[in-house]
Amino acid sequence: MSIRGTEPSAQTATAPSPSLESLSSIRADGSHVRLQPADAPGRFRRWRRLAAGLLLALYLALPWIRVGGYPAVLLDLAARRFHFFGWTLAAQDLWLLFFLISGLGFGLFFMTALLGRVWCGWACPQTVFLEHVYRRIERWIEGDAPVRRRLDAAPWSGAKLARRAATHAAFLVLSLVLAHLFLAYFVSVPALWAMMRAAPLAHWSAFLFVFGSAGVLYVDFAWFREQLCIVLCPYGRLQSALIDDHSLVIGYDTRRGEPRGKRTATGGLAAGVGDPGHSAGDCVDCDRCVAVCPTGIDIRQGLQIECIGCAACIDACDAVMARLRRPPGLIRYDSLAGLAGGVTRWVRPRIVIYSLLLLAGGIVAGGAFTTVKPAAFGITRMVGAAYYFDAATVRNQFLVRLVNKREGPQQLVVRLQGAPAGVAQVGLERPVELAGMGEEVRPLVIAVARAGYTGAFPVTVVVRDAGGTFELAREVEFLGPDPKLLQEEEKGRHEHEPHGP
Ligand code: SF4
Ligand code: SF4
Repeated sequence: MSIRGTEPSAQTATAPSPSLESLSSIRADGSHVRLQPADAPGRFRRWRRLAAGLLLALYLALPWIRVGGYPAVLLDLAARRFHFFGWTLAAQDLWLLFFLISGLGFGLFFMTALLGRVWCGWACPQTVFLEHVYRRIERWIEGDAPVRRRLDAAPWSGAKLARRAATHAAFLVLSLVLAHLFLAYFVSVPALWAMMRAAPLAHWSAFLFVFGSAGVLYVDFAWFREQLCIVLCPYGRLQSALIDDHSLVIGYDTRRGEPRGKRTATGGLAAGVGDPGHSAGDCVDCDRCVAVCPTGIDIRQGLQIECIGCAACIDACDAVMARLRRPPGLIRYDSLAGLAGGVTRWVRPRIVIYSLLLLAGGIVAGGAFTTVKPAAFGITRMVGAAYYFDAATVRNQFLVRLVNKREGPQQLVVRLQGAPAGVAQVGLERPVELAGMGEEVRPLVIAVARAGYTGAFPVTVVVRDAGGTFELAREVEFLGPDPKLLQEEEKGRHEHEPHGP
């Protein structure tokens, strides 16, 4: 690393210089610049690697860990069952996802208002896989950034072809492994293993899913890379609306760093650089912070939408400061107010509002989740007429779908509740025995004596387990003809009936 000279940036020679007006990863003609960010050892890299290692271990391990007989996370779309750490949700419970998704959204708002883009730099799968897996493989095979930039610029030769082929072969294999693992979240590891040993056509949709996912991963991590954060990700665009002057961001201390200038051997400013009338600022304009930036920006130009908060520039600059025997933190985690010499206010109206919303959402979600029962049921009217009647009864026909969400068998009892006198249940009189995680659809007829029918009325259908530990209820409307029409039809029938001598 050179302190006196200018460190090559993360870009190739033909790339635009970092500026606020254009993206340094896209040329004027729209072509993509292949950034080659340098590695920046330091404390934040250590912590980020630890966080990424834990997240990757979690991703790899979850399909293998079994809780309550199922993988810790299994999204069984085919059976419409979703298992989360021993807790099973049926398709009927998916409304609860509203709380999960809105909670994640508000959580992200809250975190961004407080800690800026800490999610992007530390936990986003795009960053974790790109920076801690794919880029490291590239570094192992091709060398560090200067070597990779030289390789980019070199004409095609056997050696270059061999290096690049090895890198991309490794990327392809890794993408396939990750895609298989992704599929395991939907089908479980044993089912995945069985699919892998079968002919591709036996499970063609899974086969297409894996190859499609692997293709997306490969294109993203081998080529598209930082463009996903800069061009596609809506969260990056939202950040300017979510943060304020007191949010924690990564920034350059202009007051301390400027006027920047290259150091001479005696410690003063190089001729023609900076303002010779003042003592130089701490920034020696080495461009090391630019060279390590995975999105190719110059943080000294201020907070930018492209900054993913990875902290690589902090590590890079701290190393430069250490060599100059100056305190670290010329680039640091701070608020814009702090960087401007003010005091960071952690408690602010938006933080309070987000906290209250999160708290309220958490309480409501907690209550909603307690309503999840170990069985589910649905009731729909049978296809055909809404009602039937004959000389004795008026009838409505329904289909009842019973779902057992327990591992073991379960008996479910179906009964009518709150129905007017004379209403009878035909079918499902006996408890229904369901196998573990089983599901059955049974007919249910609700009938009322014709003489007692006085018009449509609501009926509550309840399902409870045999022990009566829980109860589920659905209300249906009993429909029938206009009672006056029924009476007239009855009268007419009597008049036409043969009378005795
Ligand atoms: S901010 Fe630090 S790393 Fe960046 S150019 Fe200045 S001295 Fe070098
Ligand atoms: S400016 Fe610094 S924190 Fe932001 S993306 Fe670049 S290296 Fe990471």
